[in-house]
Amino acid sequence: MSTGTSTLTSTRSSDPAADDELDAESVFTLFHYAVRSLGEPPSRAKGGTTVTDTIVLCYHALSPTWEANLSTTPEHFERQIALLAGRGYRGATFTQAISSPSADRTAVITFDDAFRSVLELAQPILERFEMPATVFVPTDSIGSETRLCWPGIDHWLGGPHERELTPMSWDELRTLADAGWEIGSHTGSHPRLTQVDDETLEDELTRSKATCEQHLGDPCTSLAYPYGDVDARVVAAAKRAGYSAAAALPPNLRSRDALEWPRVGIYWTDGNRRFRLKVSPAVRRLRQSAAWDSFGALRGLAGKHGD
Ligand SMILES: [Zn+2]
Repeated sequence: MSTGTSTLTSTRSSDPAADDELDAESVFTLFHYAVRSLGEPPSRAKGGTTVTDTIVLCYHALSPTWEANLSTTPEHFERQIALLAGRGYRGATFTQAISSPSADRTAVITFDDAFRSVLELAQPILERFEMPATVFVPTDSIGSETRLCWPGIDHWLGGPHERELTPMSWDELRTLADAGWEIGSHTGSHPRLTQVDDETLEDELTRSKATCEQHLGDPCTSLAYPYGDVDARVVAAAKRAGYSAAAALPPNLRSRDALEWPRVGIYWTDGNRRFRLKVSPAVRRLRQSAAWDSFGALRGLAGKHGD
């Protein structure tokens, strides 16, 4: 698997409001009709050989009441996981799926930021479906009493939903690791990595990796770029820091670089229909194609979430 130089100059998004979001229902409807003509690819090739299909989803927090774009209700989440399980997807951690691809349908559930609601609300649901997950941890925020806070979520501080910004502790992350989850790095302080100097970039990547390993006792081999903000310089630094897999959040799903692996972001507004479209093999195939870029103007017309 290639870990070579990125072909993308920069794929940046606000963390909860990723550029991959299609915010207007009309855009999704348009795509729905567009991809119907493509049809669903067969799940099995001729001769009965299973076609590899790995989908990597990016979640953040779960809450029944926090209407932040980065949040998902437990009801939606359970329905989404049940849908994947019903379609034959089996769970894997991010590193497992990227470094040792399975011949089966594989669903990788990832959570950025280490919100405590992941332990309290998501883990019990995933346990019922026997699916592990991967949490990407901004290590400077763990072990302190402070709320998670950086541009994009800081406006929730001081409001009725402030408690939602509580991070997990190292003991709680250890509990997840013991249950088969992967704990990866989300840098130390959650900066936009393309915006920091070389020294800071190296420090953010190596310090968070070392901190994870020190607290959990396991190798920390995976990374998620804050805000999905990555370019060739950041990818090279991640490789030097010793990561073997890194998760991005680009508008298109074209990359097959292990250090710039594309994820599908799932957000508050993803009801049943939008989720089904997002995980549909036909839509994901479209998002790997050049045709997807042609819809960029439409996405711009539709506007984006500003959470
Ligand atoms: Zn983040």
